Amino acid sequence: MAPDSGCLARLVAIHGGGVRAAEIKPGQEAACSVVEPIVVEALMMRTATEPLRVTLQPPATLSCAMATSVAQWLETSVQPLAKGYFTRDITALRVGGGHECRRRNRSATGPLSEHSTGQALDIFAFVIGDGKSDGTIVVEKPDGAIQERFLGAIRHSSCGAFMTSLGPGSDAAHANHLHIDIQPRRSASSRFCQ
Ligand SMILES: [Zn+2]
Repeated sequence: MAPDSGCLARLVAIHGGGVRAAEIKPGQEAACSVVEPIVVEALMMRTATEPLRVTLQPPATLSCAMATSVAQWLETSVQPLAKGYFTRDITALRVGGGHECRRRNRSATGPLSEHSTGQALDIFAFVIGDGKSDGTIVVEKPDGAIQERFLGAIRHSSCGAFMTSLGPGSDAAHANHLHIDIQPRRSASSRFCQ
């Protein structure tokens, strides 16, 4: 996608000040450069009533395409699931590993991680509820049957929304978080979902 693709403008039209173009650091390793890097602080969801603000804690640097995919997934899957399981809104994601120039699973050798191109995000916890009127639930790892079902449904939905979805149970490197990315795989039709 070319830098003038209009992707950022489309994101800003929906998410306002929650997204902005990231500074491109000079001299960055070419293999690690992000196409249209965007700093995502908060994404706006349409709801039946007023728009809902979902913050990323801490803000993540993502490619514009990944930021768009995350926003769509939050609105079409995560928010409805939070409502359905907890009758509260999703209000934040605790995340890590937006853009980071490193190899897969932090190995010294081997292929570069999808995080190197801003095409990936790691989610450590879902914060549900506004902490005021309705209390807050932080879903980190399954704590009880409802949280387990919620996280199972989240995993399912992420498999459809992203090219790769790896979470607890897939391997040791993903025991405590959900990794999602939009890096094209060898075959366009193959998604990786564990
Ligand atoms: Zn990851």
